[in-house]
Amino acid sequence: LEPEAIPSGSVRDEYENLADLVRKYRFAYYQEDEPLVSDAEFDSLFRRLEELEALHPELVSNDSPTQEVGGEVSAAFAAVEHLQRMYSLEDVFSIGELEAWVAKAEASVAKLGNGSAGPTWLTELKIDGLAVNLLYRDGKLVRAATRGDGYTGEDITHNVLTIKEIPQQLSGGNFPAEMEVRGEVFIPSQAFAEFNEALIEAGKAPLANPRNAAAGSLRQKDPAETAKRPLRMYVHGIGAREGLATVSQSDTYRQLAEWGLPTSPYFELLGSLKEVLDFIKRYGDKRHSLTHEIDGIVVKVDDFATQRALGYTSRVPRWAVAYKYPPEEVHTKLLDIAVNV
Ligand code: NAD
Repeated sequence: LEPEAIPSGSVRDEYENLADLVRKYRFAYYQEDEPLVSDAEFDSLFRRLEELEALHPELVSNDSPTQEVGGEVSAAFAAVEHLQRMYSLEDVFSIGELEAWVAKAEASVAKLGNGSAGPTWLTELKIDGLAVNLLYRDGKLVRAATRGDGYTGEDITHNVLTIKEIPQQLSGGNFPAEMEVRGEVFIPSQAFAEFNEALIEAGKAPLANPRNAAAGSLRQKDPAETAKRPLRMYVHGIGAREGLATVSQSDTYRQLAEWGLPTSPYFELLGSLKEVLDFIKRYGDKRHSLTHEIDGIVVKVDDFATQRALGYTSRVPRWAVAYKYPPEEVHTKLLDIAVNV
C-alpha cells in the first residue's frame, strides 16, 4: 500500500471509531467470554484498521489495537506477570497471502546466511480455545495464568488444577529448574455437544460455542464449576526455561510429551511450501471430523536459533503465521444462541 497524504478529519474519524469498536469487541470476547460479532466480522474490522494504519502511519499510536495483544486482566482474578512475554499470531486469510508470508520469511532466513537450505516448517492445527501459561518449577506445576495482554495474565491456577490431563507433577527426571509451558485449553466437539444436551435437558441455556465455553469455563470464580466442564489441553509453545536443552519446537514437544504433558498428535515437519499447502488442504477437507474445532493452521519455523534470529514485532513472532480457513455460515448463526458461561 502506498502511503497517502495527511489523513483528513473523516479518515481520522473512521480510524478512531474503528479502533474503539475493535476494543469493545475485544473486551466482550476476552473479558466477558461473550462475543458480540462473529470472528470473521471481527477479523475484517481488524484488517481494515491495519490497512488504514499502513496508508496513514501517522495514525498509529502505542495503544492501537494492532500494537497490542488483545486481553486484559479482569479484577476478578489476581494478576500474574509472565516470565517471558506471550504473543499473538499474524493472520493470513488466503493462500496468496500465505505464499507471500513464506517467501518473505525465507528471504529473511537466507539473509542470516548460515548456509543451510530453507527452514523446516512445523505445521500444526490452530486450536480454537484459550491460551494458558503453565509454570513448572523442578517438575512441579506451581502456577497457571491466562495470556492477558501478553505481559500480565490472570491467575487461574485453581481452575487448571481441575484439568486431569495437565500433570501437577511431571514424570521422569532431569526437569528444568523453571519452565513456562504454553498451550491451548479447549473442549472437544463431541464433549461439547454432550455437555450442551445435558444443559438443555436440565432446562438451562446451552453454551454458545466450544471456544467461548472453554474460555468461560476456565475463568470461573469457583474451581468446582470448572471441574464439571470437559476441558482438555494441547501444548503449543514454551516460554522462559532454565535448564532445558532442546533446540527446536519439535524437539521440545518430544521432551514435554516424555514428561507427560499433552502434545497434539497432528503436527508435521515439512520441508517445502508445497507440502504446507497440502497439509492445509488435507485438514481443510476434514476439519469438521477432527476431535476438536480448529480455525486455521499454524506454520512455525522449527529451529530455535532461526526463531531467535527472526524475532518479534510488538504483537506477533516473525517466525510463525496463522492461516485462517474461510469463515462458514454456521459460526455466525451459533452466536444467536443464548450464552451461558
Ligand atoms: P489468534 O487466536 O489469531 O492467534 C494467537 C493465539 O492462537 C495464541 O495466543 C494461541 O492461544 C492460539 N493458538 C491455537 N493453536 C495454536 C498453535 N498451534 N500454536 C500457537 N498458537 C496457537 O490471535 P488472538 O490474539 O488470540 O485473537 C484473535 C482471534 O480471536 C481471532 O481469531 C479473532 O477472530 C478472535 N476474536 C474474536 C472477537 C469477536 O468479537 N468475535 C474479538 C476478539 C478476537
